[in-house]
Amino acid sequence: MFLKTREFNQYERYILEAAGRCDLDQFDKDHLFTTDKRLLGEQLFYERIKDCIGGAKIWDMRLRLNGQSQYDFIIVADGKIMHFDTKYYEGQYNYVKGNFVSENGYVINNPLALQTKQHMRLQRFVDKMGISYEVVSCIIFVGEQFNVSGFNGDKRILFDKDICKIVNRLNRREVTSEEMEIARTFLEHYDYKGMHTRIHYYPFEEMKKGVKCPKCRNFLPIAEKNAKKVRCQCGCEYTKKEVVRLAFDAIYVLKNSGVTVRDVVEFTGVGRTIVQQV
Ligand SMILES: [Zn+2]
Repeated sequence: MFLKTREFNQYERYILEAAGRCDLDQFDKDHLFTTDKRLLGEQLFYERIKDCIGGAKIWDMRLRLNGQSQYDFIIVADGKIMHFDTKYYEGQYNYVKGNFVSENGYVINNPLALQTKQHMRLQRFVDKMGISYEVVSCIIFVGEQFNVSGFNGDKRILFDKDICKIVNRLNRREVTSEEMEIARTFLEHYDYKGMHTRIHYYPFEEMKKGVKCPKCRNFLPIAEKNAKKVRCQCGCEYTKKEVVRLAFDAIYVLKNSGVTVRDVVEFTGVGRTIVQQV
């Protein structure tokens, strides 16, 4: 069971929403790129483990202990507190002295170095809370599009094929109340600092209008007059009312001031009457 799923900070929400609507500056482009990649990896892992009956699970945990540490997934199960740091890369890589080097020279710098620091902080937190569970940290490269040669194995580094084993383990027995209790202790210490980065707002009037599909983040087609639903290219369907709500949220994030009926009509193609009802 997931006690918490991913929350975006205001800045992440803004750049994800603004992407594809106007030219972003380099700072925002770089952040969009890393946010996108991170999300892709996290989402793939989440989809695979979300239906497992075992484990009290948290997606995105932040702890403050001599600075903030961020944990993609924390799973409490089988007397263990497991931390999974998900990574998403594509292509052929070579493992060279702790680094992963791609064919065209891109280097993933020793991922175990940062992970060790996070692991030690997590261990300290668990000790401080008086929890006697073993702490285990793993990096997991998700997606089958990532290949590595020259890697001799390290139990702290996992790959897509290992997810099956995690799923099987988590399905062995149902989550216990003690595990849930421990996960709640984590959430009580969730550190919200850093969730409010400053945003550089682009002119709203000059942005491309339209509503994005929450699942695949492509633009939805404009609602047709007589159709009841709007269908995304990924197959997801939304009622007009849902589209209006999505538009309201998007405009609110982009505009940083009051949302008008006219804005929503322009974004969705849905008639004024339905917009006003919603
Ligand atoms: Zn979609």
